[in-house]
Amino acid sequence: MLETLHWYEDQAAGGGYVFGSAEEGEESVYSRLMKAQCCYEVIPTSSKLVVFDISLQVQIYELEEHKIETWREVYLQDSFKPLVSITPEASLFDAVYSLIKNKIHRLPIIDPVSGNVLYILTHKRILRFLHLFISELPKPRFMCRPLGELRVGTFNDIAFIYTDTPIITALNLFVERRVSALSVVDRSGRVVDVYSKFDVINLAAEKNYNNLDMTVTQALHHRSQYFEGVVKCRRHESLETIVGRLVHAEVHRVVVVDENDRVVGILSLSDILQALILTPAGVDALNS
Ligand code: AMP
Repeated sequence: MLETLHWYEDQAAGGGYVFGSAEEGEESVYSRLMKAQCCYEVIPTSSKLVVFDISLQVQIYELEEHKIETWREVYLQDSFKPLVSITPEASLFDAVYSLIKNKIHRLPIIDPVSGNVLYILTHKRILRFLHLFISELPKPRFMCRPLGELRVGTFNDIAFIYTDTPIITALNLFVERRVSALSVVDRSGRVVDVYSKFDVINLAAEKNYNNLDMTVTQALHHRSQYFEGVVKCRRHESLETIVGRLVHAEVHRVVVVDENDRVVGILSLSDILQALILTPAGVDALNS
């Protein structure tokens, strides 16, 4: 890794003949780092991975006689897609491209020889890895610019719900809009929470899947004790500041708010990885 870093520093300092000016080289420093690193690098030395047999029964009322494979065939009939995976030798750049292009949040790293799943790669893991080196690498100019000046994030047609929206409406929005989370706003328009697809698992854990008329507030009640608040940012903040906040909070998205805490946009790790890694290499996986 250190060798790679030195190589990048050399390139940024004097690599004019390879990248045009040194400044142009700096703009794509994260892209080049990610192209030089393979997925294997981010697999922890020790980690746990739970693997389900597809003949295992789905433990949910009315569905509990079903096996995972039946569930996939019957319920995912219209949306059934082949598994997207990556090899340990593939570059992290390709992993980022695959996550964003396929609009997925989990990318299994599969050993092509044994067929074993080695790790599940996420946007969060990749950004954390990149962040370890950010302070040692030359800083691209876009990192210092305010979010409002960059074309990063979504600022139109934000999918949101109110605190008293029935949870069934939120589930329908997930399906219709294909977004991973919905901002939760109170009746004065202030953002107070985020309801993500990941939170839906609690409906099953708390056996509430037949009680979908409950409000979002009721569904999120379980976390009210330890909820640290919505991770937010403002348009005048620099990309560098926001990336640091995302890494520190270990969340997938920040809600962009105005001075009254009203939602003006969403900035997710897909947007961040596109901006830091793919865009400087001239690749657009988000909108292609
Ligand atoms: P994600 O799947 O959360 O990584 O986001 C994929 C894309 O959808 C990104 O460009 C986000 O800015 C956008 N996005 C995420 N959540 C919402 C939302 N609630 N409303 C509109 N766009 C969203």
